[in-house]
Amino acid sequence: MTATKQEGRAFSPEALKEKYRLEREKRLRPDGNTQYIPVKGVFADFDKDPYVEPGFMRPALAEQLDVLIVGGGFGGMLSAARLRQAGVDAIRIVEKGGDFGGTWYWNRYPGAACDVESYIYLPLLEETGYMPTEKYARAPEIFAHCQRIGRHFQLYEKALFQTLVQSMDWDEDARRWNVTTDRGDRLAARFVIIAGGILHKAKLPGIPGIETFKGHCFHTSRWDYAYTGGSPTSRMTRLGDKRVGIIGTGATAVQAIPQLGAVSQQLYVFQRTPSSVGVRGNRPTDEAWAKSLQAGWQQDRIRNFSAIVSGRALPVDMVQDGWTYIFQDGATQQARTPEEAVELRQLADYRKMEEIRARVDAIVSDAATAEALKPYYNPMCKRPCFHDEYLETFNRPNVQLVDTEGKGVERMTPRGVVVKGEEYPVDCLIYASGFEVSGDYTRMLGFDIRGRDGTSLRESWADGPATLHGMHSRGFPNLLMFTTTQSGWAINFVHILDEQSQHAAYIIGRCLKQGVEVIEPSAQAQQQWWDVILSRLRMGISFGGADCTPGYYNNEGVSPGPNAIRYATFGGDTLAFIDVLRAWRQGDGLVGLELSQGKVASKP
Ligand code: NDP
Repeated sequence: MTATKQEGRAFSPEALKEKYRLEREKRLRPDGNTQYIPVKGVFADFDKDPYVEPGFMRPALAEQLDVLIVGGGFGGMLSAARLRQAGVDAIRIVEKGGDFGGTWYWNRYPGAACDVESYIYLPLLEETGYMPTEKYARAPEIFAHCQRIGRHFQLYEKALFQTLVQSMDWDEDARRWNVTTDRGDRLAARFVIIAGGILHKAKLPGIPGIETFKGHCFHTSRWDYAYTGGSPTSRMTRLGDKRVGIIGTGATAVQAIPQLGAVSQQLYVFQRTPSSVGVRGNRPTDEAWAKSLQAGWQQDRIRNFSAIVSGRALPVDMVQDGWTYIFQDGATQQARTPEEAVELRQLADYRKMEEIRARVDAIVSDAATAEALKPYYNPMCKRPCFHDEYLETFNRPNVQLVDTEGKGVERMTPRGVVVKGEEYPVDCLIYASGFEVSGDYTRMLGFDIRGRDGTSLRESWADGPATLHGMHSRGFPNLLMFTTTQSGWAINFVHILDEQSQHAAYIIGRCLKQGVEVIEPSAQAQQQWWDVILSRLRMGISFGGADCTPGYYNNEGVSPGPNAIRYATFGGDTLAFIDVLRAWRQGDGLVGLELSQGKVASKP
C-alpha cells in the first residue's frame, strides 16, 4: 500500500502501521495487570461510601426467598423488574451502596455522563414513561432514573442497602442457597442471581512512592466534594487556590478534566496514553421527535445500535453518532475476500484515527501539546471518548499536559509527582486510574461461593471457568451469574444486562411455576458452549486485539495463559449472543440444564 487519501488528509498506511507498533512497544511492560495496586491498606479510605450518613444500623433478617439478587445496579434492578413482571415476588436485592444505581451511584465526579446515547442506554424508558432530557444524559439524571425504576417496580421494599454478602453456601438437603451478610442477615434463597457488575473495584497505579504523598488525594469513583467544593450539579468552589494533579486520561478523566481546568489555580494532567476524543454533539431531546415515537421504539433503537456497532450493515442508522460512525464503512461491505475485508477495515480505521488526530491539531494551539495528545492505535483498542471541551481545556493558561511518553509517572514524593526527573508539586492529586479487571471472579465479588459438596467456585474454576451461556456453572445449582466471562459483550452494556435479566427471569419463573427445584448445567453442555466461544476466538472476533496498545481491553498487552483465555467473552457481535439466548428460550426444553423436580414451597 502506498500513500492513501480517502476523503481527508493523505496518510501512509505503512508509516502508520510502524508508528502504531512503536507506540505500542513503548507501553508494553512485563508486569501487565500486576502493575496496579488495590484500594486497601493505607488507601482503604478511598473505598468508603461518602454519600451515606455514617452509623447506619438495622435489625438482621432471617428469610426464605425465591430469589436473592446480589447487586443493585442496572443488572440487579433489571432482574428484579423482570422477575416482578414474571410474577415472582419473594425476592431480595443486596447492595453495597446506600441506594440503587451501581456505577451511577458511585461515580459522581464532575462532568460525569454516559457516552452512549441516553435513549438506548437508560433501560425501561417506555415502561416507566420517561424521556431523557438530552441525547447524552449526565450522571445525576441517570442516577435519578435508577431511583425511578426502583419506585416504579416497587424495588425499594426489596432492597437491603449498605449490605455486603459474606458467604454463600449450597444446602443440598434444603435445595437452597444459604447466604449471610455483614449485617447478620441469614437468607435462604431458592435461586441466586449475581449481578455484581464489572469495573467496580477502583485500582491505583503502582507508582514508586505513591504511599508517601502527603497532600490530599482520592479516586474519581469517590469524588471528594467536601474538599473540592461544589456538587455533581454545581461548579467546584474550593480549588481556586489549589494546584491539582490528575493521573490518567481515560474516559473518566476526559469528562472530569474540563471541569477541573475551569476552576483550579493550576491543573497538571499526567498522561501515559492519549485517548481518542471525537465530537460529542450533545443536544436537548427534540420534543416533537419524542412525541412521534411508536410503542416498541426503544427496543428497535437498541437493537439497531448494537447491530451497527457489531459491524452489521443496516440501511438505517437510528443513533447516528461517533460510535456508529466508527463501525460504518461502506467499502468493507464490498470486499470480495476476507483478507480484502480486513485490509479495507484497516484503511478505514487509519482514516478515522487521522480525523481524530486532525481534530487535535485544529483545536489545540500549542504544537507540542497537540502532538502529545494524538492517539496512535486503532479506534477500538481503547475505549473511544467523545467530548467537545476536553481538547479545548489544554488551551487554558492554567492547564498543563505532562506527557510521560508512554512510560507513566516515574515516582511520587511527599510534595507531588515526578515525571522525567522533574517534580510537579500539587496540593491535591486525583487518581483517574480506572478499575480492576481480573480473571479471578470471586476476588472481584469479594466472597467465595460454596456449591455442591462444599466445593468453592474458586476451586472449581482453578483451571478456568466452565459455563453454559456464561451464566450457569456445574456444581453450583440454581446460581445465575451475569458476567462477561463466556458471555455477551456490548458497547451499550445495558443491552446485554437487559437480555441476561430476561433470560434469568424466564428460567426462574418457569422453574417456580413447574415445580422444578434444581437446575444445573450438564458437563456436555458446558463443553459445547466452550467450543462455541473458542470457534469465535479463532475467528478473531474480539476487541482490543493483540496488536493494540496495552489497556484493559487486551489484558494490558500480555497474552493470556491457557486458563485466562477461558475468561474470554462470546466475542464481537452483541446480537449474535442475544439471538443464541432467545433461540434457546424458544426451544422450550431448557436444553443443557439438568432438572430436578420437586414441590417448590415459596415462603415470602
Ligand atoms: P481507564 O482504565 O480507562 O483509564 C485509566 C487511566 O490511567 C489511563 O489513561 C491509564 O493510562 C492511566 N494510568 C494508569 N497507570 C498510570 C501510570 N502509572 N501513570 C500515568 N497514567 C496511568 O479508567 P477510566 O475510569 O477512565 O474508565 C474506565 C471505564 O469506565 C471506561 O473504559 C468505560 O468503560 C467506563 N466509563 C464509561 C463512561 C461512559 O460514558 N459510559 C465514562 C467514564 C468511564 P494507559 O491508557 O496508558 O493505561
